[in-house]
Amino acid sequence: MRERFTQHWLCVCLAFTAIIFFLLPTSFVNNFYLPKIFSPIANALNAVTSKTAFPIGQLVFYLGVFTLLIFTILKVKIAIKERKWSTLKKPAFQLLKLFLVVFILFQLSYGLSFKRPGLANHLQLDTNRIQPIELQNFTLSTINWCNEHISDFDYEKDSFKNMVKWTHESYEHLIEKHGYFLPIKPSVKRVIEPTIMSRFGISGIYFPFTAEANVNGDIPAVIQPFVIAHEMAHQKGIAPENEANFSAYLAGINSDNISLQFSAKYAALRYCLAYTVDSVLRDSLFNLCNESLRNQIEEHSAYWQNYRGLLGKISSQVNNAFLKFNGQQDGIKSYGNFLSLVLAWERKTQQNSTYRYLLE
Ligand SMILES: [Zn+2]
Repeated sequence: MRERFTQHWLCVCLAFTAIIFFLLPTSFVNNFYLPKIFSPIANALNAVTSKTAFPIGQLVFYLGVFTLLIFTILKVKIAIKERKWSTLKKPAFQLLKLFLVVFILFQLSYGLSFKRPGLANHLQLDTNRIQPIELQNFTLSTINWCNEHISDFDYEKDSFKNMVKWTHESYEHLIEKHGYFLPIKPSVKRVIEPTIMSRFGISGIYFPFTAEANVNGDIPAVIQPFVIAHEMAHQKGIAPENEANFSAYLAGINSDNISLQFSAKYAALRYCLAYTVDSVLRDSLFNLCNESLRNQIEEHSAYWQNYRGLLGKISSQVNNAFLKFNGQQDGIKSYGNFLSLVLAWERKTQQNSTYRYLLE
């Protein structure tokens, strides 16, 4: 009787999962899910979790992983002792049920926002036929700007709390101008044990179950404001990674705070250099950076070089699979693909034309 109930329960869960994941149209996501489900859930969770300075989601996640590990070890130990592998059937079903419940909760609290019509579409950006010369021109103008403003960057003075405030204000302006971002109050926290996150190659992470945006406070200060803006974008209903990076870029360049502006331009510059395929051109672009900027870029690369290892590779593979499962065909490459959104934005706003022929 109980087994039949379990099977029915699993069927209901699977059917519900299939409906919410495969069948819901984007109009439902836009008109009902985001305003009626995502926003109220995020705001309610936010009202509770923003009261603490430490990330509740991260603690719950660590406790959950620890409990699952102990549970699995104990069950396997019993099966080995009794030499009866069939005893693992029931715990395997229990784990599957738990996974389905977590998956459904994830879809309700966040996952469905992957299905909303894209930010490029909303801002009417043409990301097709971006030419290499556009990347070059943008890289040159960004180097020029960063050379001029690197000495203005002062994140320590601004502090984490103030940076969250500046970033939120910039998003408020973007909402007034373009809509799209959900008006959800920020709950951004520094992660506990940041070096563990660095070993996994993680700069920041959004926990939808607690609506907390978490930032790794150990990564170079120059990139932290950009990461705050990236995680805050997730909090405001932007799920795809290329769009979260682009949102962080927009929040940065439209901010009145120079450190946030610099961090956004600097982040874009690093991607530009990484995406310049011609190594001779990349070297000549790098040499146009002044000494402080070159040192900053090199120190930043050295930081991640220090943490390159097996954990980082596993983490990348998991993130890649997660993004592809949620419809992001480019997987982890989508982080860098935000450049096509930036270049389309530059093309639309024509901020870059003065640098067009400098390298020719
Ligand atoms: Zn992200």
